[in-house]
Amino acid sequence: VSSIVGCAFCEAEGGRVVFRHAKFRVVHASEPNFPGFYRLIWANHLAEFSDLSATDQLLCMQAVTAVEQALRQVCQPSKINLASFGNVVPHLHWHIIARFVWDTHFPQPFWGEAQRAVDATRLHQLQNQLPVLEKVIVEKLTQLNT
Ligand SMILES: [Zn+2]
Repeated sequence: VSSIVGCAFCEAEGGRVVFRHAKFRVVHASEPNFPGFYRLIWANHLAEFSDLSATDQLLCMQAVTAVEQALRQVCQPSKINLASFGNVVPHLHWHIIARFVWDTHFPQPFWGEAQRAVDATRLHQLQNQLPVLEKVIVEKLTQLNT
């Protein structure tokens, strides 16, 4: 694994690790108002998606898809948001975020302005789904096994 001194994702996990593959890890982002927020972080320090080989591009998106499917299956979100920026940490990663019409920012992005107060009851219900969700995430990612 190639790593860079001073890179947040080379020097730290970037969240609570849910699954580790030789080429990537999936972490829970631990954003308090967004329990259904995961990140896929590529193991090697590469900045751009096109830095990956064609085979690894496929693996990466199959893994993103597996997390998306698990979120849909268990949490039944209003929408899934996928995003890859890397402007702050230029180390290849994808944000995979379950969004709900009741969440604080919907329909704005996670990075946008809040639209409403926290719905503590629904947030708590979503948090309670995480153990089952993460079991499904691990099952789906294990099946990839590339
Ligand atoms: Zn890095």
